[in-house]
Amino acid sequence: MKKHNIMIPKPRSNFVKVECESCKNVKILYTYGTKTVLCPSCNSELLTNTGGQAKINGNIIETMD
Ligand SMILES: [Zn+2]
Repeated sequence: MKKHNIMIPKPRSNFVKVECESCKNVKILYTYGTKTVLCPSCNSELLTNTGGQAKINGNIIETMD
């Protein structure tokens, strides 16, 4: 029996739990189409808006769809 591999485009928008590299503060970020997000405790850039999939600057602990 032939298995069909239908490619369903995965939604690129998801949430990630990111730990700040500077102060270890953990924040949940939405990674798509948002503005730049700063760490609330040390003002490091946690997420940089690139116009599409955002760039995460901290340590990704967990991703949540
Ligand atoms: Zn921080």
